[in-house]
Amino acid sequence: MVTVFALGLGTSPWMALSLGVPPVAVALVAWKAPIGRRFSASLSSASLMLIAALVVHISGTIEAHFLFFILVPVVALYEDWAPLATASLLVLGYHAFMGLHSPTAVYNHQAATDSPVAWSLIHSALFLAMCVTSIVHWTIHERARREENTLLDRLADQALHDPLTGLANRTLLHDRLNQALSLSQRTGASVMVIAVDIDGFKPVNDSYGHATGDALLVELAQRLGSCIRAGDTAARNGGDEFTLLLPGTTREEAPGMAGRILAAVSPPFSLPGVELEMSVSVGLAVSSTGTEGEALLQEADQAMYSAKHNGRGGYVIFDRSLVPGTLGTMTVHPDQARGWVAYTQSLRAEIASAKDLGRIPEQSRGPETVRRTLESIIAAIDQLPHGPQTAKLPLPERNALEEFVFHHDLVQHWADTLLADSIIQVERSAEANLFWLALRRSAMKDHGDPGNSPESDGDNVPVAAT
Ligand code: GH3
Ligand code: MG
Repeated sequence: MVTVFALGLGTSPWMALSLGVPPVAVALVAWKAPIGRRFSASLSSASLMLIAALVVHISGTIEAHFLFFILVPVVALYEDWAPLATASLLVLGYHAFMGLHSPTAVYNHQAATDSPVAWSLIHSALFLAMCVTSIVHWTIHERARREENTLLDRLADQALHDPLTGLANRTLLHDRLNQALSLSQRTGASVMVIAVDIDGFKPVNDSYGHATGDALLVELAQRLGSCIRAGDTAARNGGDEFTLLLPGTTREEAPGMAGRILAAVSPPFSLPGVELEMSVSVGLAVSSTGTEGEALLQEADQAMYSAKHNGRGGYVIFDRSLVPGTLGTMTVHPDQARGWVAYTQSLRAEIASAKDLGRIPEQSRGPETVRRTLESIIAAIDQLPHGPQTAKLPLPERNALEEFVFHHDLVQHWADTLLADSIIQVERSAEANLFWLALRRSAMKDHGDPGNSPESDGDNVPVAAT
């Protein structure tokens, strides 16, 4: 730029070339030398100021000084003190030197050339004021960026964590689970997933209030966190359901791990105003080659439901015997089955309208398998013949039915509370009750014995799984 400018003004080519060398040399050092960002920025700044000084010198006009005022804001783009200080010192030094030794090269009015020291100070003050403007600009910009980053970090954190316990939420759990499974494909190490659900949590809320329930969830989250290593993940899925993810853990370690969780939960929980002894049901599943994340979570859930059915307060390790098998059919009275459908539908409708009216909070919904199982049972009941005779009702697969019964029990428990509090009016009819007992019994039979008929329960419902 300096060389072209000098040639344009009629300087000899050699002179023009030699004037261009110093700024290019400084810029090359700044660009190539391994001297760190700050030093390199300061050298670039020096190179730019040198260009401005040479242009002023070559042109011989006072107006060329504006180049300094154009280049200093460019230097301020580094948003760093070192290059701006370098530029300021060079400009002030240049003006002080030229102002004292050759005042007419810097000033174009009599007052300034008569008192170059005073005018050098005035120019310096104006120049420094311009530098301060740049500094204020970048400081405001920097603060806004910092606040934006803090906000983004906070939002990212909120999007990935449960606000009550601070544990990972489902999104983060899925992410980590998929990462752990991809890694395990390469290393061959297995991944363990543990589902933990508090036994009898609802009565804690009902008897001691939601705040006590919350305190229990927070305390349990801390205890579960103390059972795992760095690199493992503890997550809350919602409600009183937690999941632990332990990469690089084998099936042989499962009983020890379950024992550690049960031991951590067994000391009484000191909650505001009350001390409570609680238990949890634990389901453990370990990946094998090619296991999908969602499947592993479902296996742990199935094992946890089995632990609930086994009487709560214990653990079950998932294995193939828990894999869904068909329960065949159940002999039912069609009218009782229809009575149950009518009750279920009116219960759901009444709960939905109470939610719409804001009389009850949103309840965490059961998993997709539960909804599908409900639909398949209702569809099968639709096919039953009319009349009081008995009929064969095809049943969904064993685990889907177990999971469905588990969630339906919870919904019923909740509905009973709402009924007692006069929030809803719908009551289970006698025939609905009989059908439900029969269905429940079919789902809760011994795992290894799907073909046997359960003994009579004296409730007048002939039930036979075939
Ligand atoms: P089970 O032994 O079969 O697991 O029965 P349970 O009483 O523990 O029933 P369930 O697991 O369904 O309990 C879930 C309850 O958790 C339902 C809901 O009222 C309550 N809940 C859901 N989220 C929260 C929350 O953030 N705080 C509190 N305090 N309670 C919650
Ligand atoms: Mg529970």
